[in-house]
Amino acid sequence: MEAYFDNASTSFIKPEVFEAMKPFFLEEFGNPSSLHKLGIKNRKFINSSRKKIAELLGCNHTEIYFTSCGTESINWALKGMALKNRTKSEIITTKIEHHATLETCTYLASRGYTLQYVDTDSNGFVDVDHLESLITENTLFVSIIMANNEIGTIQNFNEISEVCNRKSTYLHIDAVQAVCHTELNIQQLEVDFLSISGHKFNAPKGIGILYIKDGIEIDNLLHGGKQEHDKRAGTENVAFIAGITKALELGLSEFKEYKDRLNSYSMYILSELDKNNIDYILNGPEVGDNRLPGNLNLSFRDLDGDTITFYLNKQNVFVSTGSACDSTSIEPSHVVSSIGVPKEYINATIRISLGYQTTKEELEYGTNVLIDTLKQLKDE
Ligand code: PLP
Repeated sequence: MEAYFDNASTSFIKPEVFEAMKPFFLEEFGNPSSLHKLGIKNRKFINSSRKKIAELLGCNHTEIYFTSCGTESINWALKGMALKNRTKSEIITTKIEHHATLETCTYLASRGYTLQYVDTDSNGFVDVDHLESLITENTLFVSIIMANNEIGTIQNFNEISEVCNRKSTYLHIDAVQAVCHTELNIQQLEVDFLSISGHKFNAPKGIGILYIKDGIEIDNLLHGGKQEHDKRAGTENVAFIAGITKALELGLSEFKEYKDRLNSYSMYILSELDKNNIDYILNGPEVGDNRLPGNLNLSFRDLDGDTITFYLNKQNVFVSTGSACDSTSIEPSHVVSSIGVPKEYINATIRISLGYQTTKEELEYGTNVLIDTLKQLKDE
């Protein structure tokens, strides 16, 4: 038996998604820029996919740009704004972003931008008053993660976007973990840029989307051909565009059932831990509307996260650790560190992320193995 509890790292490709992609590997191999029939068919397919995605996300098709991944979308949005707008020199983010945002902002800081971090509370929610106090007329952008990849916090963007709009600063949302896992409508969000990655919702790795609000100009990251309205050069990955479109369509149509099922699975794991008197902390918000379905970030007292994952792995239970290793030390992750997990717990942090294909049997197997492992390690 196997239990894949690491869907936030990457998710499996749904069979329908694979089927939608297949013709573009085997038959429809034309280059969308070619002016003959094979090319034109591909071009038309990309255009119709763009329209479908825009409809599903609640925006215009002219606002959707295909990229290679979430990291590229984030880099393009943030560097593209910086290159285009040389007059403003301040940028704002949080300390609980994914490295794609943190490292891009650090890079911009090394190029002269003043980087500030808005406070987040012990559950990872942004302090909107602090955000408002940080924004000046010199602020170029605010970049905030919509659903946290580690602790599952789903940010409430109503107030955040209201402040950014009122203070005339651009807002970029990293929605990589949010799409198909939260209610998301771009029009309602009132956002300027939004980054998406296919492999977090059952499309393949290597395809992303950047939403850029109509009327906003940013510089290109990739220069070359005239693809993507002359904004993102490179021959389009038509098969993967087919995949991300199908995955989005399916993910959104199944969202309600998915959310209820995964929330009940999360509650099952927590109740089993309680029944077995396991000493743990759930990092991030309670299971419910403010937490990613199926995400549990757990810290255990006086244990070690890498030892736990090692023993789980031996029994085919796959989770992530809440730590980042370099060659000499294992440090708690920047997210877990910044929410103030007590020191007796912080080194034994793991992330469980359930997914569409998680079955009851897998859930029970993984939970039993986790509990047995924790009891054994406690007794050692
Ligand atoms: N942002 C968040 C919140 C993520 O979880 C990830 C990937 O884990 C990324 C960005 C990067 O996305 P990609 O793997 O498509 O580059």
